[in-house]
Order: sequence, then structure tokens, then C-alpha cells
Amino acid sequence: MNTIGILTSGGDAPGMNAAIRAITRVALAKGIKVMGIQRGYNGLINGEIFEMGRDSVSDIIQRGGTVLKTARSEEFRTPEGREKAANMLRIFGIEGLIVLGGDGSFSGAQLLSNEHGIKTIGIPCTIDNDIAYTDFTIGFDTAINTVVEVINKLRDTSASHERVSIIEVMGRRCGDIALHAGIAGGAECVIIPEMNFEFDSLCRSIIETKVLGKLHYIVVVAEGAGKAQDIAERIEKCTGVQARATVPGHIQRGGMPSAFDRLIATKFGATAVEVLVEGKSQRVIGIKDSKIIDIDMNEALSIKKTVDKDLYHLANNLSI
Ligand code: ATP
Repeated sequence: MNTIGILTSGGDAPGMNAAIRAITRVALAKGIKVMGIQRGYNGLINGEIFEMGRDSVSDIIQRGGTVLKTARSEEFRTPEGREKAANMLRIFGIEGLIVLGGDGSFSGAQLLSNEHGIKTIGIPCTIDNDIAYTDFTIGFDTAINTVVEVINKLRDTSASHERVSIIEVMGRRCGDIALHAGIAGGAECVIIPEMNFEFDSLCRSIIETKVLGKLHYIVVVAEGAGKAQDIAERIEKCTGVQARATVPGHIQRGGMPSAFDRLIATKFGATAVEVLVEGKSQRVIGIKDSKIIDIDMNEALSIKKTVDKDLYHLANNLSI
């Protein structure tokens, strides 16, 4: 392996830069040339490719987002688009491609391997933690820390006004951000798409805990399970207690990556290079039971994400 390429694709996630840095430095130390590809698969198709030196990744470990920029590419979904991408890889002499993104980006990498024989490795980056084969994706830990900070702030104002606060968090169809941040932030109720939820029980709990003297009541809802504003209106109507909705939105995707995200990003990046050097292809890197793993991309894509039901019940049993 003489030359590898790196691209970031799909939604950005804090920690992507730490992975780019690790890939670049580990590869250079092995005498491998590194090419950075800008704007995901779109940039690959358009030849937005440049050689990276050790200085290209200086001072980025602490920065959120991705210095390579990211994009979604409709053209890459077509066989013609992937053919153009494969040609670009050939022109620039790139033998192995490391793709940082979510499962969509991995599907694209798999097709590129199958159709054009390019060696590809995937690194899971998404704040949603919705990729089943790995316990954690890069960006998730930073996102839950951001949400916990929001909950801490809402707690103050919620307690002062004796209001219910509903916070709607990201995650699409995955409830991990809501569940983990809800527990860490001490929320009274967590609503996620994977589990049924009874609105009447929530209202009863709000009334009962108010009678017991609780000053605040924090509800964390995953975006795939409902809208904070709708829930706030329904709570007010049903209980007579004031309720306010907060949607932190895209701030969950930004910010300085946590130490944990930087650490796994560095380990994932280094492992990706090692796996490519071993001559493997269509592998994805992850972490399982605290061990760094690499598994077959096809197998990884077929595993269905499930929610930790014990954690969910624990979250909702703590509001007594
Ligand atoms: P996120 O979790 O942040 O959404 P993702 O990698 O799942 O990340 P997608 O938008 O699904 O995000 O995919 C990113 C890009 O990967 C797409 O814009 C497209 O170029 C490519 N891609 C996704 N799915 C496929 C597919 N089935 N075939 C070919 N290319 C794909």
C-alpha cells in the first residue's frame, strides 16, 4: 500500500478531525502517502484531492466538524457517479480509501469496492450512535455532554418557575442520545422511538411528584419519538402545570470533541491504517466491550440496532 485516501461523508460529528489526524500521522510514519479528499463522495467525483503532510493535521484534534468538509452526494448513488469516483482514485494513485461517516457512507464504500476493486475501510462517525455493530460511534459522547449541559441549565430555570421542561434531542430513529443524556442529566422522563410511551402515566407522574414537592420535571424526548412543543402543550392541557419546550438542534453536532471521542477517534484511525496495510478491504472499525474491533462491512450493515431496555427502565424509574 503506497497511497491512501481519506474522506468524510454524511453528517459531521465531533472527533472526525482527531481520526483524520491519526490516520494521516500513522500512515506517514509507515511511509504511506496520504491524500485528503474534500466534500465527501462529491469531492472525490470532482477531483477535490490534495496531498496531506504532517502539518495538514496540526492543531485540529480539539476542533469539532471536519477539516475535509462533508457532503451528501446524489451522483455517487449512481453507477456512473461511482465509476467517475473510481477513475479519480486511479488518477491520484489511491489504492485504499478510508471513509468516515455513517452506514449510508459505508454502503457507498462497499459498492465502490465491489464494482471497482478499491480497498475500503469505514470508521463510524455520527452523533446518533445508530450503528449497531459498535458500542460507540465518534461524536456521540460529545453530543450527550452537550445535551447534559443544556439539561443542567434548564434545571435552574425549571426549578425557579416550578415548570416542566421538555427537551427535544437529535438521534433520528435512535433513542441513544435521549437515553444516555437523560440519565446523566437526571431527567425525570425519557421518551424514545424504540419504546412505547403512555402519556397519561407521564401526566400522573408530573402531578404526583409536584405534590411531593419536586420543583422541576425534565422530560427528554428523542426527535424520532415526538415534538417537544406538542408534548408541552399536551402536558399543560392535561395537568395544568406550565411546560416549556427547548430544541437545542444543531449545537448538538458541533463543539470541541470530548476526550473520549478524541481517544476512540485516534484508535479507530490508527486501526484503519493497520487494517489497510494488512491488505484487508470492506472492513469497518468499532469498539465492543472496550476492545477495538474490525469486522466485515456487509455483516456490520446487516446488524440491527437495538435499544438497551434495562437502561430505559432505569431512566424512567429514577423519577420517584
Ligand atoms: P449520517 O448518519 O450522518 O446520515 P450517513 O453516512 O448514513 O451519515 P448518508 O446521507 O446516508 O449519510 O450517506 C452519505 C453519502 O453516502 C450519500 O450522500 C451518498 O453519496 C452515499 N451513499 C449512501 N447510501 C448509498 C448507497 N446505498 N449507494 C451508494 N452511495 C450511497
